[in-house]
Amino acid sequence: MKPRGVLLAGNWKMNHLQKETLTFLDALAPVLKNTPKQNSQMRIYVPALSLEVAAKKVKTDSILLQIGCQNAHYEKAGAFTGEISVPMLKEIGVDQVLVGHSERRQLFGETNETVLKRTVSALEQGMEVLVCVGETLEERNQGKMQSVLQSQLELLVQHETARKAFGEKLHIAYEPVWAIGTGVTASPAQAAEAHALIRELLQTKVSPAYANATRILYGGSVTPANFKELLACSDIDGGLVGGASLKIESWTQLWALI
Ligand code: PEP
Repeated sequence: MKPRGVLLAGNWKMNHLQKETLTFLDALAPVLKNTPKQNSQMRIYVPALSLEVAAKKVKTDSILLQIGCQNAHYEKAGAFTGEISVPMLKEIGVDQVLVGHSERRQLFGETNETVLKRTVSALEQGMEVLVCVGETLEERNQGKMQSVLQSQLELLVQHETARKAFGEKLHIAYEPVWAIGTGVTASPAQAAEAHALIRELLQTKVSPAYANATRILYGGSVTPANFKELLACSDIDGGLVGGASLKIESWTQLWALI
């Protein structure tokens, strides 16, 4: 068994209406009930407008599923049109948030600085945060994978709030940008190398204990066909899954592999 347990996290992005969400959860509930996993969790980052119905359903039906938001603003309130605050999430019983997904970085101007601000603010308000990092294909081809990961994690490992949260309320997802939604998965060797680098960085810049407690998830075209091999790598503690999390069949097949 994995020392840190395994986290299977789905990222639905801008997919599934409320009705589809409830149908999905109805189908998922018996699977989770019949196949509980010791020391492992399942989580889905659903679209913001489905958070409330999903959180309510999970609570009412006692489904062992964590519901998370795909982003949250660092201010508690104010003139930030279109944004969602942590108090709004907490009001509806959501205490999980994804920060720094590559789509947020590439399409919506998220930077390492705003990733830090969102992470620290969410942690200070009692949320659990999964921060995404990962290099583009161009960066990998230029031999910059390591330096990109270092710079994406640098501000976090320097910040007191984040430093104290690693392994408890703060975890990392390594998502090579070239593997997200492309059908091209990192090979187990490529993923293992990046995960080991991240673990080592946390060990030297934060502490061995905090580093060892931190879950590092792999994300990028995970499917039931490749997940087992990835999960066999010692520093891979689960998956952050986009496409294969949308269909109940592939999603439950992934759960069966843990
Ligand atoms: C993601 O959305 O974070 C992701 C990894 O997507 P996919 O599994 O579709 O590549």
